Amino acid sequence: MPAPFQYQKAASVEHALTLLAQYGTESMVVAGGHSLLPMMKLRLAHPEALIDINGLDLADIRLVDSRLRIGALVRHAALLSSSLAGTHLPILHDAERVIADPIVRNRGTVGGSLCQADPSEDLSAAFAALRASLIAVGPAGKRTIPARDFFTGPYETALDHGELLTEIQAPVGKASAYVKVERRAGDWAVGAACAVLTISADGIVTDAGIGLAALGATRFVAAEAEDFLCGGPATEERFAEAGKIAAEHCNPSADQRGPVVYKRHLAGELTTRALRLAASRAA
Ligand SMILES: Cc1cc2nc3c(=O)[nH]c(=O)nc-3n(C[C@H](O)[C@H](O)[C@H](O)COP(=O)(O)OP(=O)(O)OC[C@H]3O[C@@H](n4cnc5c(N)ncnc54)[C@H](O)[C@@H]3O)c2cc1C
Repeated sequence: MPAPFQYQKAASVEHALTLLAQYGTESMVVAGGHSLLPMMKLRLAHPEALIDINGLDLADIRLVDSRLRIGALVRHAALLSSSLAGTHLPILHDAERVIADPIVRNRGTVGGSLCQADPSEDLSAAFAALRASLIAVGPAGKRTIPARDFFTGPYETALDHGELLTEIQAPVGKASAYVKVERRAGDWAVGAACAVLTISADGIVTDAGIGLAALGATRFVAAEAEDFLCGGPATEERFAEAGKIAAEHCNPSADQRGPVVYKRHLAGELTTRALRLAASRAA
């Protein structure tokens, strides 16, 4: 049973901000509720007031000026069925296919996933690799936060209390892929890796984004492997070397999903596979 709490349904973004200010630091936003409500039942979270944002107009997916703009309230299932997302950012469809089960995907939101900042969250790694921008509104107005600055630690983000994530904007036009190992269908990742590549006509990697989930990467990014790849040829040997570098620099924890040595191995293998798949899509 959760602790007692008050409930308010916001009618607009402005109304949500007013309610958050009115109820103060002990209030929390609820979107799909698939992370927050279990935490409340376990009393790991005990907000005094829940501000329900499900009625807000933040569920569109649009392509504007070479950026896919995804509303914070887009459900996992809607992202998975979006042909715009599938065509322009296949990394998101790869990830969504293996996020949880239909029940969670029908309710959980993209914004809620990012704000939860669970170190195993698949979309956090994908948007970090994409170098997406997150749009937040708060009492001081609107601001844009690079995805790589948004995640400040496990379950911690750059959002201030009273701010709302409203949209995620990701650049299109790059080759991308997401691969994940899970113990059973619909489970959280044992480990996952994703790659976003720009490859020139003469086969040189001009831009690389590599994300890792559940593998202890700082802010979900394998920065050293990205640096290694940029400026060199897009070859199988270099993808394997980038995988080794990603494995060396991540810091996974041992848990019921496996020991450190296994997860480090996964980091290397999955990074190489994600790069290979992204490069094949570029071709
Ligand atoms: C059984 C199960 C299996 C799962 N498996 C996976 C998996 O395999 N991979 C994976 O990545 N995830 C998985 N998840 C997690 C799930 O995808 C997301 O955590 C969940 O969808 C979060 O979104 P939500 O809308 O439910 O957020 P909520 O639970 O409503 O909120 C989560 C947090 O974000 C805050 N928040 C929500 N929206 C906003 C906003 N717009 N602005 C500011 N703050 C906000 C809330 O206050 C809260 O702190 C699983 C969840 C369950 C229950």
